[in-house]
Formats: sequence, C-alpha cells, structure tokens
Amino acid sequence: MTYRAPVDDILLSLNHGAGLLAAAKAGHLGDYDLDMTAAVIEEAGKFATDILDPLNQPGDRAGVKLTDKGVATAPGWKDAYKQWTEAGWNAVSGPEEYGGQGLPLAIHSVTNEIWSASNIAFDLCPLLTQSAIDALHAHGSEELKAIYLAKLISGEWPGTMQLTEPQAGTDVGALRTRAEKQADGSYRLFGTKIFITYGDHDMSDNIVHFILARLPGSPAGSKGITLFLAPKFMVNADGSLGARNDIHASGIEHKLGIHASPTCTMTMGDKGGAIAYVVGKENGGMAAMFTMMNQARLGVGLQGVGVADRAYQRALAYAQDRKQGKAVGSTNTGSDPIIAYPDVKRNLMLMRGMTAAARTICYATAVAIDMSHRATDEKVRARAAARGALLTPMAKAFSTDISNEVAAIGVQVHGGMGFMEETGAAQYVRDARILTIYEGTNGVQANDLLMRKLQMSGGEAVWDLLEELSVIVREVESSNDPAFGTTGAKLRDAVASVERTSKWLLEKIASAPRDALAGATPYLRLFSVTLGGCSLAKEALAARNDESMQGDTGRYATLARFFAENVTVQSGALERSVIDSADAVNGADAVLVA
Ligand SMILES: Cc1cc2nc3c(=O)[nH]c(=O)nc-3n(C[C@H](O)[C@H](O)[C@H](O)COP(=O)(O)OP(=O)(O)OC[C@H]3O[C@@H](n4cnc5c(N)ncnc54)[C@H](O)[C@@H]3O)c2cc1C
Repeated sequence: MTYRAPVDDILLSLNHGAGLLAAAKAGHLGDYDLDMTAAVIEEAGKFATDILDPLNQPGDRAGVKLTDKGVATAPGWKDAYKQWTEAGWNAVSGPEEYGGQGLPLAIHSVTNEIWSASNIAFDLCPLLTQSAIDALHAHGSEELKAIYLAKLISGEWPGTMQLTEPQAGTDVGALRTRAEKQADGSYRLFGTKIFITYGDHDMSDNIVHFILARLPGSPAGSKGITLFLAPKFMVNADGSLGARNDIHASGIEHKLGIHASPTCTMTMGDKGGAIAYVVGKENGGMAAMFTMMNQARLGVGLQGVGVADRAYQRALAYAQDRKQGKAVGSTNTGSDPIIAYPDVKRNLMLMRGMTAAARTICYATAVAIDMSHRATDEKVRARAAARGALLTPMAKAFSTDISNEVAAIGVQVHGGMGFMEETGAAQYVRDARILTIYEGTNGVQANDLLMRKLQMSGGEAVWDLLEELSVIVREVESSNDPAFGTTGAKLRDAVASVERTSKWLLEKIASAPRDALAGATPYLRLFSVTLGGCSLAKEALAARNDESMQGDTGRYATLARFFAENVTVQSGALERSVIDSADAVNGADAVLVA
C-alpha cells in the first residue's frame, strides 16, 4: 500500500489550524508567496511516493553495515539521497545567501512530515543536517560559514550532531570528550561519542560533524562545554577534499527500529586528534546546542506525525479490504469489511484524529518560529517567539507519544497480520519507539514545559494562547452546527482545566517544585489534547468557508467532534492527575523497592 501525502489535510492544518494564511496576509512572513504552498507539498508528496516509500521496507530489512571503508547504507539509499538533494529538497528553508530557497520553516516542516511518513530512517540524515545548518548559521564565524554552509544547505555534505557519551545522555554537561587548542588556532578532539545518527555513511563525499567537547580548565557541567566543527575529510584552500580527519565510526548499533539509519559509536584521537574548529565561543556550547536542538525537537515531533499518518493510511486501506463476519445492521449478502464494525471505526478515528491534532500543533510551532524571525513589528516577533517556545515541548512530546499509540492501534486494526513484518504495520511500531527518547526524552520535554515555558513572564504565553482557544470555543458554540455535537462544551471544559491547572502549577513551582514536577507529563498531555481539540474545531469551521473544501465540511466537523468527545474529554481526569497525585508520586519510594 503506497504512501500518499494527505495534501488537503495538510493544507487545511497549515493554512487555517496553524495560521499560515493569516500570518502571511498580515505581512508577518516577509515576502513569502502563498501560491507556492500547494505546489511544494504536491511535489514533495510525489517524490516521497515514487522514491522514498519504495525503499522503506527493503531498507528496514537490509539495515546498514560497518565495513573497513566505513558504514555502508542500504541498497538504493545513496542514489535516493543524490536525487533528493539534486531536486533541492535539502535547501527548502536554508538562507538564500548560501544557496537556500529561504522558504518558511513551516513549509520545511510539512516536507519533513512527508519524508518521515514515507521513510523515517532516510529523513534522519537531513533532520540532523538541518540542526547543523542552524548552529553554524547562528554561531559560526564567517570563515567557517564560507567553507561549509552552502555545502550543508545543498546537502552535498550532510551534518551530524554529537552530544551523547556513555555517562552523558540527558545530562549533556557530564560529557568528557577533550579538546586541545593548537598553535594555529585550531583544536584537536579526543574521546568517544555514542548513538550518533548518520555518524558515518556512503551517501556523500564528506560529512560535517558538530561535536560538543570540553577544554582543559573549563567550568564543570554544561557551562564548560564548547561546540566544534570537524569534517570527515579536511577541506583544502581551493575547496577540494584533503586528508582523512581522525574521527571515524568504530561501531554501529543493532536497534529495535529505524534500521536503515546508522547509529554510530564515533572515536576521535587514534591518530593525534580530530582537527576541529570552534563554532561560537569557547564554553558557549550550551547556547549553540539549544539552537541545534530547538528545531530538531520540532523536527522529531514531525517525524511522529509522519509515522502516525503512514500507520493510519495503511490501517485504513486494510480495514476497507479485510472481510470478516457480518456487522450488526448490515444488509450485505456476503461478509463485511472490518471497517463496518464500530470498534474498528473508533480505532481508525483515534488514529486519524490524534495525527491531525499533532500535525497542527507542530505546524503552529513552525509558523510561530517563522513569525518570530520574519515579522517586522517587534511586539509581534516577541509574542511569536514566546508562542514558539511554549509549543515546542508539546510539538515534540505529544506528537511522538501519539505516534506510538497510533502505530500500536494500526497493528491492532490489522489483527494477527499486523504482528507479521510483511504487512508493514509492525515497522511503524518499531520505528516510532525511538521518537519519545531522542532529542530530549519526553519526560524532559514535560519538565521544560512546566519549569521554563509555563513560568515565562508569569504564565503570559499560556494565558495568551488560552484566550485564543476561548475564541474558538465561542465560535463553535455560536455556530449551532449539529455536526459538532458536544464539541463546544468539551472544549470549554478543557480550556478551563488548563487554566486552573496552570495556576495551581505556577503556585506549586514557587512553593513545592517537587509536587509540580510530579504532574509534568499529565500537564503536557492535558494542554496538548486541549490545544489539539481546539485546533481541529478551528479547521472544521474554516473548512466550511473554504471554497476548495466544499463538500468536505461535514468530514472535518466529524473529526473535530470525535476528537473532542473522545480525547479532549480526558482533560478533567488529567487535571485531577496533576493536582491530586503529587503525594503518591513523591511518596513512591516506599513502593519502588527491589
Ligand atoms: C537511535 C538513537 C539515535 C540517537 N542519535 C543521537 C545523535 O545523533 N546525537 C546525539 O548526541 N545523541 C543521539 N542519541 C542519544 C539520545 O539523545 C539519548 O539517548 C537521549 O538523550 C537520552 O539519554 P540516555 O539514553 O542517556 O538516557 P538517560 O539520560 O539515562 O535517561 C533515562 C531515563 O531517565 C529519565 N531522566 C534522565 N534525566 C532526567 C531528568 N533530569 N528529569 C527527568 N527525567 C530524567 C529520562 O527521561 C529517561 O526516561 C540517539 C539515541 C538513539 C537511541
């Protein structure tokens, strides 16, 4: 069953749910030409359908191999990457002065979803290259940018992001990779990094590694780390490739999923140290790391949306095809397709609804980040930056949580065949599993939402967003459209839950932070199901007025209603979980004994 980019859903979500249209019309996206949106999405969809999707299952089976020449990717990978970069897909949102197309992050985000849906293991290479581009563009010297930025943006030389060491995972500040300054101003790196995505491969002539390391005498912890750039092959003055640098993949992991994406142990310093250059300032690694990670977090959220959508598409096709028994009330003479059963319909609606909600949360994050860079009015930029910061942990954690749920339901819809690899549904369960872990685990995202984002300006970004959600609630209620059922009431209750819970948490963060932290994960879910529910309702309202959506009005209202009545309705329970269960969580030591 071939992947098809859901162009209508994407456009509705992006233009209306995430507010791209309004932002562009208000002039907050610079000179972005709205007419381009549909064409870019359709072209990306075609590439994904024709080139990436057919490689997904074979790549999963073939995996990658470590040879004496380095890491060999799965058959077809190198050629697909060449076609993909030549078509300009790596450069979508790159700065124009370095050969990028300068399109908004929102458009880049849509394409990221599409690559992930068709082939998530492939998508990982450009996803990390994007982080490298962001870090170099924001923090690198003009000299480094002149040598490396255009190559990274075109994708000719992909990038890696190397933070993790055996003792330094979530706690990046515990890293030990050592940097030594040389007389010529360059540095030599010594140490080992683990779990490095696309740390080595055969898809390009060179790879640009971005590595966090520690200089002698630097402060302990995260204040004493520095970001370095070290190419796989040194670059000569004329731009040609020179000697092999002293950094190589010394091992690859055997993993639960994303088999076609190499996850490497990287060794530096076997031959005198990897030659490297500082990106930004010595001991300024944390700032550079946050630049790298922020958009990567959104990128991983979009991977979640992509995998969820692919799992949904496959499950829907199977449910329409697979016949079993007779549904209550059926007038068919033969047996019915399983989609006739209410329980199967419910599963498919859950898959579709959660995917659509997560999609809009991710796109809205991207639109906010775009406005924070492109709007001319300083106030608009500041408000958008606060919105983007608030939404980022939800975009990452909610989308990847639901990708696991959706992929698991997809297997369920397939019955026993879902457990068999040949169906393809099982791969999504395996591939989705990493998404809640890398780029900051989802527990870390929930803590970030609570301790940083909620707290920003005493909760101002939260109240600002809740005000917008309340307007949507009023519009749903005043529409008097029976297709919405009890949507308005469910959303109203949920918005009130988020408001009460946020106030309770703000008070606890000040007086009893351990109590607040105990509720971080249910708070992130509460906020996300409320935001997701309101977003779907907003889209359904917009679809009624959008000429290109004529005839689809009922479809989107039904989806919004299903989500509100089945998912957003959980807000009350999530509120109670945050507020009532802190004692049980923090009193758990008595229970959690071996
Ligand atoms: C396939 C794969 C690809 C990866 N790619 C890269 C890459 O390209 N570059 C790179 O640098 N790294 C990469 N990583 C590493 C990844 O980012 C880390 O695995 C992740 O950050 C978690 O670190 P850890 O595995 O050490 O887990 P730990 O930090 O040991 O965490 C274990 C558990 O404890 C929880 N926990 C830890 N600290 C806290 C805290 N302060 N508050 C609350 N909960 C906490 C976590 O949420 C988690 O559930 C990759 C990992 C994998 C598996």
